[in-house]
Amino acid sequence: MVKSPVYLDYHATTPVDTRVLEAMMPFFSEHFGNAASLQHRFGWIAKESVEIARKKIAEAINSAPGELIFTSGATESNNCAIKGAAEANRSKGNHIITTQIEHSCVLESCRRLERNGFSVTYLPVDKFGNVNVEELANAVTEKTILVSVMTANNEIGTIQPVSEIGKICADRGILFHTDATQAVGRLPIDVAAMNIHLLSFASHKMYGPKGVGALYIRSKNPRIAVEAQMDGAGHERGLRSGTLNVAGIAGFGKAVQIAMEEMDEENGRLLRLRNRLQEHLLKTGGVKVNGNITKRLPNNLNVTIHGVSADRLMTEMNEVAVSAGSACTSEETGDIQYSHVLHAIGLDGNAGKSTIRFGLGRFTTEEEIEYAAERVQAISAKLRVQTEVGIQ
Ligand SMILES: *Cc1c(COP(=O)(O)O)cnc(C)c1O
Repeated sequence: MVKSPVYLDYHATTPVDTRVLEAMMPFFSEHFGNAASLQHRFGWIAKESVEIARKKIAEAINSAPGELIFTSGATESNNCAIKGAAEANRSKGNHIITTQIEHSCVLESCRRLERNGFSVTYLPVDKFGNVNVEELANAVTEKTILVSVMTANNEIGTIQPVSEIGKICADRGILFHTDATQAVGRLPIDVAAMNIHLLSFASHKMYGPKGVGALYIRSKNPRIAVEAQMDGAGHERGLRSGTLNVAGIAGFGKAVQIAMEEMDEENGRLLRLRNRLQEHLLKTGGVKVNGNITKRLPNNLNVTIHGVSADRLMTEMNEVAVSAGSACTSEETGDIQYSHVLHAIGLDGNAGKSTIRFGLGRFTTEEEIEYAAERVQAISAKLRVQTEVGIQ
C-alpha cells in the first residue's frame, strides 16, 4: 500500500531533503550569529557558512561566487533582476522583451514597468510552448535593453532555447535574464557558455528550505548594473539589504550540492516514472499531453483529460496532490480562469479547465505512480459517465 496522500506537485515546492535539514540545524541555536557582525566569532562562523554555500551554488551555474546575491526566493530575484536592470539602464532605452508564459512575478514586474514608462513586448509561443528565436530577434528595437525568457516552464515543462537567445542578446548588446527556477539542479546551466547576464532561482524547488533564493548578476564581460530594490545597511554588495537567512542559505548550498551530484541518476529515474504515468494516462482515451514532448522537464506531465473537470477530479481524488490548470481567479469577475500558459499554447477554456499538472520528484516511487494513474483513470471514467447522464 502506498502512503496517502501522494505528493505529485513538485513544481510548486519540494520537501526539504533530510540531508539538507541536517546541514541547517547548527545555524538556528548554536551558530546563530549575524553574517554581517564581523567583530566576533559568532559573526565569522555565520559569514563563513554563507560564503561556503555561495561557492557551491556559484559552481553549479559556472559563475564566480561574488556574482550571486541571496534573496528570499525566485519572486524577489525576478523582481530585482527585471526592475533593477530596467531602472539602471533607463538612459539606454525603455523596451523589454519577455514571453506570454512567464511566471506571474515576471509578468507583473513587467506590467509595473509599463506603468512607469517602459514598453514591453510579450512574445507568443508555439503550441508546444516554445519561443521562436527569429521572432524574438525581430522584436528587438534600438530601444531594447532587456530580454527575459524563462529556462523551463513551471506548468508544461517546456525548455526554451536559452543558449540561442543568449547569443542573440550578446550579439546585440542587450541584457539577457532567465528565470531558471525550474531548471537549476535539474538541467545543466552554464551562465558563461549560455551568455546569461541575470539568472533567478530558489532553494525550495530543489529540496532546500522556503524563503531563500539567489540572483546571479554578471560582473564582467560585460558588468551588469542593477538598481537595488531593497535599501538598507548595504548587505549583498548594496543590492539586497537585510540580515541574511544563514540557516536557509546553508541549506540551499547543501541542496544545490546534492542536486548536482545526483542530477543524472535522478533525471533518468524521473524520466522513466513520468513516461510510465504518461503511457497509463494516454490509455484512458481523450487525453492529450501538453507542452513539448522532447524539450521538456523530465519530471513534468501536463495533460488535458477531455470531458473531465480538473476541479472535480481533484476534489474526488484528494489522495493524490496535483495542480490544476485553472488555479487563478479573475479579480474583476470572480470567474475561475484557466492559466495564461495554457491560453498561450492555444488551449480553449474547456480544455484549460480539464487540465492537470503532475510534478514528480526525488521521493516519488513507482508504487505512487501506479496508484496515481489508477486513481486518475477510475475517477475520470466516473466523472465522464456522470456528465453523460447529466449529473452535475
Ligand atoms: C516557483 C517559481 C517562481 C516563484 O518562486 P518563489 O521562490 O516561490 O518566489 C518563479 N518562477 C518559476 C518558474 C517558478 O517555478
